[in-house]
Amino acid sequence: MLDQLNQMHAAALSELANVDTDEALSDWYAQTIGRKGEVTLLLRRVGELPKEERPAFGRRANEVKVSLEAAYEETARQIKAAELEKQLRYGALDVTLPGRWIPTGRLHPTTQTLREIYAIFAEMGFQVYLSPDVETDENNFQLLNMPPHHPARDMWDTFYTDQEGVILRTHTSPGQIHAMREFCPEPIRVILPGMCYRYEQISVRADIQFQQVEGLAVGHNITLADLKGTMAEFARRLFGAERKMRFRSSHFPFTEPSVEVDMDCILCRGDGCAVCKYAGWLEIAGAGMVHPVVLRNGGYDPDVFSGFAFGMGPARSTMLRHSITDIRHFWANDLRFLEQF
Ligand SMILES: [Zn+2]
Repeated sequence: MLDQLNQMHAAALSELANVDTDEALSDWYAQTIGRKGEVTLLLRRVGELPKEERPAFGRRANEVKVSLEAAYEETARQIKAAELEKQLRYGALDVTLPGRWIPTGRLHPTTQTLREIYAIFAEMGFQVYLSPDVETDENNFQLLNMPPHHPARDMWDTFYTDQEGVILRTHTSPGQIHAMREFCPEPIRVILPGMCYRYEQISVRADIQFQQVEGLAVGHNITLADLKGTMAEFARRLFGAERKMRFRSSHFPFTEPSVEVDMDCILCRGDGCAVCKYAGWLEIAGAGMVHPVVLRNGGYDPDVFSGFAFGMGPARSTMLRHSITDIRHFWANDLRFLEQF
């Protein structure tokens, strides 16, 4: 039995020399010194030996076991090292390869226009003033000279909340009341950008939510000429130095007098085309001198102070600049559209 043990020992060691993977190594372990391995099974048969041979066999058995276990550990270590070497060689990072392209986002076309508008008015001394999207009926209509029965309200139907008298603003004009009440009696020069909401049919020209930029200047001796100069300067900075301006009389409840601000068509330069509907002019803003009632509601004495206000849609400006024909693209979230800007 001792010879058998020595033979097994030699055979196991020579088999182990050919083992070079984890799987082969675990197989080898199971066949030799595992719980049911041949060496283990042989050692259990020690009781079959005559008493006097048992100590010698036991000693040798122990040596064989220790030797095989050490060989097993050594082979396991070699396999691991070889594996690591392989990974280092074939999985190495080649720093000379070009990097992977990471898609970056970009600003929405309306946001790009908005930022240009901020920059232009900032250079003319206007601060950006933010006011809430959710408004009271009082701020959105009444304090802007539109009492509950006023017919102009029909043009500005909106979304209502559960709370009576609390609505989504239909224009940025309630910000005028907030700004005046905050700054009174100091002079004011602010623009009021923000989202506005109207309950109306969605079409190529109208959506239920849209950006607006309001402007407000209040002080001493402010006249319609200041409004005209400000609007002309703005249009020339945003649409090109050669732009011509015109004012048309109009009506808004919160300005008196009220005007529509037009500039010559940027596409046909006044000759007439489909974009300007063959008029040669494009409307870019509604404006006027702040109504005395509104000034008073903001805390300013209309006999001492005067002011002008204007409102424009940056989405509309963006459509003109990029010849976009459908306002619904702005909210369609279609990358094919957005990636062009
Ligand atoms: Zn035109």
